[in-house]
Amino acid sequence: MPPMHPNCRSDIQAWLGEDYAPLRRRARNPETGKSELIPNMSYKEWLKLQEDENNQNLFSNKTSNPVKYSTHEIYARALTLLPQKLLDAIGPIDIIRDNSVRYSSINAETLRITLGYGADEYHLIHELAHKLEIEQNLRSNTEFMRIFSNKFAGLTKKDYELIDGPTGKYWVLKDTTKFVSPYQTRLYKRFDSFNLFNRKPNLDFHLEYFSEGVRMYYKNPNKLAKTDIELYNFINKYLGR
Ligand SMILES: [Zn+2]
Repeated sequence: MPPMHPNCRSDIQAWLGEDYAPLRRRARNPETGKSELIPNMSYKEWLKLQEDENNQNLFSNKTSNPVKYSTHEIYARALTLLPQKLLDAIGPIDIIRDNSVRYSSINAETLRITLGYGADEYHLIHELAHKLEIEQNLRSNTEFMRIFSNKFAGLTKKDYELIDGPTGKYWVLKDTTKFVSPYQTRLYKRFDSFNLFNRKPNLDFHLEYFSEGVRMYYKNPNKLAKTDIELYNFINKYLGR
């Protein structure tokens, strides 16, 4: 106890440290009536989030594909899966919801994550892995780069097919059996997606290898271990479950 003087209106208060970001609060989800963990926020902020959620639910009722989970449900589920050490490494998380888009994404400059209407906790984890790889500059990690380049070694343009997706054109491998998903083999379409001389893929535009690996590490670790033991071991060591 600090010194306290008789007849002096002093009081004591708990000090929880400088950074309140890792703290979570418990709230009752008005839709399910169940209590859940949410990021640290004031009641006012929480109320605002409910209004946003309600608007989205109204919107989603008009579409054929309903919103699977609310944003804070996704956030709370992801938080239960990720170890605190990893959350600390990821840092502050900025999420918006856009149910007019089918896919989740992260803005590479602002690092703001957008969750699309079909999003679940594993999509959020995928985007968080992007945040981590950008912030931790994973491409300067020699062990990761060895595993990554080995995985795509020997492949040339003939092994890829061009897909006309909802977010634009991109290349994927024709044979994706050695990968956790076709998405993991996505090669973004640029004029130099392939080397002009030897037709090898340019790894600068293979942006989904790590993030899809991390998603699968949490969603189906056996599948990752079976298809890519090197990436599994790297993630296991790097993210430390
Ligand atoms: Zn991605």
